[in-house]
Amino acid sequence: MHNSDAVFLEDLCPKFRFRQWRKSIHRFTGKSCIYCGKPSESIDHVLPRSQGGLSTTENCVPACLSCNGDKSDENALYWYRKQKFYDPRRAMAIRAWLEGDLRLAIRLLQWANPNFKVSYQNFEKDESKYKAA
Ligand SMILES: [Zn+2]
Repeated sequence: MHNSDAVFLEDLCPKFRFRQWRKSIHRFTGKSCIYCGKPSESIDHVLPRSQGGLSTTENCVPACLSCNGDKSDENALYWYRKQKFYDPRRAMAIRAWLEGDLRLAIRLLQWANPNFKVSYQNFEKDESKYKAA
């Protein structure tokens, strides 16, 4: 992350809230990269900040450092299509995420990666509590 980015983000919201928000983004995918499924070590702006992309949940996805760095300022879906690990289900998940439909995105990621169950349950926690009651 560049120093100028950090200043920009801290201007938007207090540091603590930003940290919580980052954590929640990683939790949605069970701390795995939305592109390749490796551990997510960073948050990637789908529409790069240089192109007016905002630091909102819809525009920010968990990504490993390798994908985040390799993608750079390219369009995420266009870049993703060229990757060896391209999976159409993940591409659909990214699209759903961009549209703010995290539930659908998570369902598609789960389909792409069966090891995904745990984080999906976390996401559904409130609903299952309600059902159990
Ligand atoms: Zn990755």
